[in-house]
Amino acid sequence: MTLKEYEKQLEELFIDCERNCENNGKVASYIPALERVNPDIFAVSIMDTQGRSISSGDIDFKFTMQSISKVVIFLYALENYGEEAVFERITLDPTGDPFNTIMGIQSTSEGNVHNPMINSGAIVLSSMIAEKEGPEALQNMLEFTRTLTGDDGIYVDVEVFDSEKSTALRNKAIAYFLQASGSIHDTEDSLDLYFQMCSIAVTVEDIARMGALLANKGIDPFSNERILQDANVKTANAYMLLSGMYDASSRFTIKVGFPAKSGVSGSILAVVSDRMGIGILSPPLDSRGNSVKGIQLLKKLSEQWDLSVF
Ligand code: GLU
Repeated sequence: MTLKEYEKQLEELFIDCERNCENNGKVASYIPALERVNPDIFAVSIMDTQGRSISSGDIDFKFTMQSISKVVIFLYALENYGEEAVFERITLDPTGDPFNTIMGIQSTSEGNVHNPMINSGAIVLSSMIAEKEGPEALQNMLEFTRTLTGDDGIYVDVEVFDSEKSTALRNKAIAYFLQASGSIHDTEDSLDLYFQMCSIAVTVEDIARMGALLANKGIDPFSNERILQDANVKTANAYMLLSGMYDASSRFTIKVGFPAKSGVSGSILAVVSDRMGIGILSPPLDSRGNSVKGIQLLKKLSEQWDLSVF
């Protein structure tokens, strides 16, 4: 199929979904700044492993990455500190828990259980990075995010950051529990870095480009430069496949069939290895915290283009 044909089919599926997809979700309200977003915003962008892209909808709309940043935090930790250091702090067995579960912070006989795709694991890794890099941590991670998205303009949306920081009782509870069990040292620094990463503003095109990098084994589709180690990309993709969609991960993997990570802004990053990266935004969420329309559009794309890895 030519790029033009893909573009035409995407447009048709997008319009069909805009009109007919169920949209019975609710915009996240536990972070007040997220609740103010227009629920009708809908956008998709796809970039293939050669850097060619197609998009539909409100593609210039900026939203915060939220949990998609967990993939960035995880990759940053792997790239900079190596597998051994990372898996000393988090488990190699992902879980399909809700994003804000406190289950994952109980220690087991095998050691700490902190899945990096849910809050507890991402807070543990943020803590590790904050401990090692001090006040430079955020700047370093912003630079890394700019490299992954190919967008030099990446910044932290301070309004969303302040809004989350001032209301984050559950995340604070998780962090204090982690501190009490010796998994993190400084609750305040760890949470600040974690919330700042969640509050990075992006477009669906940024997310699609990051997805294309992950689909292309860590090689930049434009410069052909290796940005991420192949082994780290495989690990991150595997985690996303197993637990990127919270407690709906198994269902998503069976019905749609490729790695994806969602965020409570209604965003989804999806990776179809060797083919494409996909970025989607539609803010209303289902009861598990995933974009209602986003999942339906991904399912349609998967069926139409036979994207399942199985
Ligand atoms: N900043 C959000 C939180 O920690 C991210 C949650 C998500 O997107 O799953 O509650």
